[in-house]
Amino acid sequence: MDYVLASEGSFGPHPYLPFLACDEEILYFIDRKRGFHLHLSLVSEMTNYRMGQVDSWEALLAFAEAAWFPSHGLILRPTDRATNGPIFKGIQSTQALQTAYEASRSYCSQGAIWVETDMRAQFNPTRMEVIGELATRLADRLLRLCPACHTPGWGKVGAEKGLPCRQCGQQTELINREIDGCVLCTYKEVRGRSDALSQADPEDCPVCNP
Ligand SMILES: [Zn+2]
Ligand SMILES: [Zn+2]
Repeated sequence: MDYVLASEGSFGPHPYLPFLACDEEILYFIDRKRGFHLHLSLVSEMTNYRMGQVDSWEALLAFAEAAWFPSHGLILRPTDRATNGPIFKGIQSTQALQTAYEASRSYCSQGAIWVETDMRAQFNPTRMEVIGELATRLADRLLRLCPACHTPGWGKVGAEKGLPCRQCGQQTELINREIDGCVLCTYKEVRGRSDALSQADPEDCPVCNP
């Protein structure tokens, strides 16, 4: 096997905006023939990720609607983990939801049940879309060859801060230059930002806006 491609997703609070849920996808590519690894990740706020306790059929339906059911699957189980109650996964129809709801309730003394989004990709078209976007980025990256050794996977490996202020020229904390590198050899090239921004707003300047 010359090539390996692996996918992994994790869900939780956004790293910068903790009140937002997010989906972080990672694609890992290994080329055994050429001897290099490349992994790319993508954080997307586009996710239905949520979980909670509901104590009525109406509350469950409201949760389901907010979680983009039935195109997106749900997982149901009795809230009390101490029971040996079953876990229902990959629920994608109202009938299956009702069956799971009634079965789960029969295991709960207080009648409340636990519901969460099923984040396995085959039950989550939104996650598939995010993985698709990342796969396109990976494919684009593998089409770019290192100028020195011609290994696929040439692309951004780092960045330097210091974008100058438009008003006073002082270096700011914003990215000034991006660094492209090879996945196999040590060759690197420093270039301007991908978005071609060459000056910072005085608002981001430590002199103009201390
Ligand atoms: Zn300034
Ligand atoms: Zn190279």
